[in-house]
Amino acid sequence: MARRDFLLTPGPVNVPRRVALAESQEILYHRGEEFSELLQRVDAKLKQVFRTQNTILYFAASGTGAMEACIANLLNTKDEVIVVEGGKFGQRWRELCQAFGVHHHVIQIEWGRAVHPEQIAHALDAHPKASAVFTQLSETSTGTVYDIEKIAQITNERDVLLVVDAISGLGVVPCEPDKWGIDCVVAASQKSLMVPPGLAFVSVSARAWQRAERSDLPKYYWDFQMSKKNLYFTPFTPAISLVMALDEALNIILEEGLDNLIARTELYAQATRAAVHAMNLKLFSERPGPVCTAVHVPQGLNGKEILETLRRDFQIKISGGQDHLKGKILRIGHIGDVGAKDVLGTLAALELVLHKVGHKFELGAGVRAALHICAKKEALCAHS
Ligand SMILES: *Cc1c(COP(=O)(O)O)cnc(C)c1O
Repeated sequence: MARRDFLLTPGPVNVPRRVALAESQEILYHRGEEFSELLQRVDAKLKQVFRTQNTILYFAASGTGAMEACIANLLNTKDEVIVVEGGKFGQRWRELCQAFGVHHHVIQIEWGRAVHPEQIAHALDAHPKASAVFTQLSETSTGTVYDIEKIAQITNERDVLLVVDAISGLGVVPCEPDKWGIDCVVAASQKSLMVPPGLAFVSVSARAWQRAERSDLPKYYWDFQMSKKNLYFTPFTPAISLVMALDEALNIILEEGLDNLIARTELYAQATRAAVHAMNLKLFSERPGPVCTAVHVPQGLNGKEILETLRRDFQIKISGGQDHLKGKILRIGHIGDVGAKDVLGTLAALELVLHKVGHKFELGAGVRAALHICAKKEALCAHS
């Protein structure tokens, strides 16, 4: 088998060897005691990573499946909702509302900017019938993190449901569903949880269960009530191998400690931000987070060529932009099985590529800036 590219993308991510080995075990029969025990064990650990005591539902799907499940289960035909659209994934909430014919009001944010919590308050004042807000924790398409704690204060004051797509952010962006009062947190396996794609999750608060009981939108595979009844024994054939992989990925995360993982990922993002600045690149996001660092492709350079050269010469895969940002931005991921050597090596490789294509900056300045950030910290890598 040819060597694969090293992924520094904001999902899917490099999977630790321990996780890949766990996934390759013999298939367990899913209606047996052993699988039920596995799910209970996974569930207890996943609750620690979600930082919630709420029920977590499992779906064999990519993240979007769980987003769709939230729309189908939490809303009624007559409901009005607020959607924050500041990138590709906010757009997905809007398109899901359209698909289900849900009356929605969009807070349109320029891509790369963060929603101001007051904008949510204003939208709820302007549309007093709106009973739910759909937003992101980390808008992966722009590398932007939103202030969910403040947003939750606003939704809770008004008894409005808050549904947060934390698909890329869960595990690396601080998030406290129970302390802050987030009704539903959506996550998926292939981002910061370091598992191959195919598992999606939703945590469901008591308030969200009340809504689910009243919901009249069509659903079958995604039915929260049916999933709840079968908890630890999902109603349909689960993604058994992925649950085994998740079991081990959660061991790795909890061995390091969630706070340490958050701090280490933030360190990689800080080092990368310092480096790109020193390389004469401009950050794309006004509120950059730890999932990925998005930068503008400098005027006159070809974004596609930069990505392809990184792959060809270094077997490093970083992401470009989506939709209208294609060719305009680069996104360097910081999640998954990544260590300090990978972050520094990638920055060095990026410098060489930029140098080659004629970008003006002092060769080595980016890595040096990143080293100065790293020199201040002791824990640069995970030690599990
Ligand atoms: C990756 C991602 C999604 C979409 O997930 P799929 O697994 O591709 O369906 C949704 N929201 C955010 C914030 C993401 O990063």
